[in-house]
This record gives sequence, structure tokens and C-alpha cells, in this order.
Amino acid sequence: MDEDTALRAVALCCPPGGSLRIQFTGGEPLLKLELMEAVASFGKDTGRRLTLSVQTNGTLLTPDTCRRLKAIRCGVGVSLDGVDEANRLRVFPDGTPCYDVVVQGIRNLGETGMRCGLTAVVTCVNASQLGQLADLALYLGNVAGVGLDLFRPLGRGAGQCLSTTAEDLTAGLRKLTTKTKAFEAAGIPFRFRELERMRKRKASPVCVETYCYAQTSLSFAVDGRGDCWPCSSLAGRAGFCLGNLRDGLPEKNCKANDLAAPKTCGSCPSFAQCLGGCPAGRVENGKNDPLTCVMHRVLAASEK
Ligand code: SF4
Repeated sequence: MDEDTALRAVALCCPPGGSLRIQFTGGEPLLKLELMEAVASFGKDTGRRLTLSVQTNGTLLTPDTCRRLKAIRCGVGVSLDGVDEANRLRVFPDGTPCYDVVVQGIRNLGETGMRCGLTAVVTCVNASQLGQLADLALYLGNVAGVGLDLFRPLGRGAGQCLSTTAEDLTAGLRKLTTKTKAFEAAGIPFRFRELERMRKRKASPVCVETYCYAQTSLSFAVDGRGDCWPCSSLAGRAGFCLGNLRDGLPEKNCKANDLAAPKTCGSCPSFAQCLGGCPAGRVENGKNDPLTCVMHRVLAASEK
């Protein structure tokens, strides 16, 4: 993405004086740190209140990069699937494991006074070991929490068969929820994103029918060409482009109906807490991955 495209996206989405949340994602967005800084400066210079975050693979978190991220007040999410071997799908292009480099990057953030979140893709490699993510957070000391994305055969995962089993997912989720609750009991700040969302929905069961912003017209993912998509997981997916910034901002998400919760979810007792799960995950075959139900039911059971 060039600077013109990035600033055009910000200008179209947010008037001067307004507020906008921006997540830089990729690819690897830290390859374009100067573009992120240009966006931050543009917001400051034009009176737009921008809340910035970056989702990174963590391999470029040098001390200097951490300082620059801190200077633009950019939140950091690091993609990491577990400890050491559980992370073996994340490698450099030459096949070298990146785990040690990523852990050093998180330490560099800590030395700059920054915390980060971890985002793990749940696959057949790491599912039964999800509890390790909580151990790692405790060990590193500057990890605020963990979020889970079930593996989807989209983007770089296209054509791969890395889904886990219901048994392994259940075992891994139980370990992670048990550790999360132990941290809570000990007063250790740690957020397990999916559990927290479920608790929030349970505490205030307002009539919300959307799982995420991809099903609304409140956010868009913008790619390097200025094409707009319902979310970054669907970027490049045939039939899901909402338009290009050169024609202005898409007026609404014309794909929202395609991303609505499946009808079968309507009669599910977990619907109020689950809201049908990630819509991008069912684009491939039109129905939910059964693991979506497993995840939400295991989390719901852990709260009883
Ligand atoms: S648990 Fe499964 S069936 Fe129930 S609402 Fe969630 S995705 Fe739909």
C-alpha cells in the first residue's frame, strides 16, 4: 500500500474532528512502518483521533521498531501459536523456526514499556496445547491476553488441511480456561478474548445479531490497491469486493446478507453468546465449521 491510498482511506472514513480505529495487518505490516507513521501524523495534523493497532508476526520487533510504535501509540498484537514446537508452522521463508525471534521481539516491547496481545491460529499442531499460551504470557510478563482463530482454509491457509479434532480442541480450551481462571483468582491481569466476549454477551444480552464488524457497514478492510472488503480474511476472495476507494467509500456492506449467521443457529441455545461464529469461516462451504460450535459450547460449559 502506498501512502496516498492509506491517507485516502483515513480521510474517507473519518472527517476532521472524528474518531477512527485502524488495524494495520498484512502480509507483514511492520515492513511498512513508515506508512503507519505517516497515517499517525496525518491524523494528528488534521484533527482526526486515530486509535492504531498492528497485527504482526513479531519477527521485526527490534528495539528501534518498538520505540517507534510506542511513539505513535500503536497497540500490538503478535501472531504466535504456542510455545516452541507448538509454533512450528510459523517459520521464516528458508524454513528456520521464528519462535525465538518472536519471543525476543515481545521482550523488546516489554523493555520499551509496551504490552501486547497474542493471537493464535488453532490447528492440528497446537490445539491440545492451548494452555501453554497462558504460561507464556505469565513468563514474558507483558502479554495482556490471548485470542484464538480457528484455522480456515483461506488466504495463506488455502488448500491446506490443518483443522484439528473436536477432542484436541476441547482439551486445549479446557486447559486455557482453567489457567485463565487461576490467573483471575490470583489477581494476574490476563484476557482470554473468546471467553471475555462470551461473558460480556451473557452479562448484557442486548439484541445484537452480528458476530463481528464484517457483517456490518461499520468497518472495511482496505488492501494495497484500495479495494475494500468486509474483513481482511475475505480480502481477495472472488465476489466479496465492495468497491475501490477511487470511487469513494462503499456506502454499505452489500455482502452483509451473505455473511449472516446460518439459519440453523437460530434455534441453538448458545446463540445469544455465540452469535453464529466467524462469518469468514463459513464462506468456503456455506456452513459453520463444527469446531466453531465445539469452541463456544466448551467455553459456555466452563462458565456454569
Ligand atoms: S454454537 Fe454452533 S449452532 Fe450454536 S450459535 Fe454457535 S455456531 Fe451456531
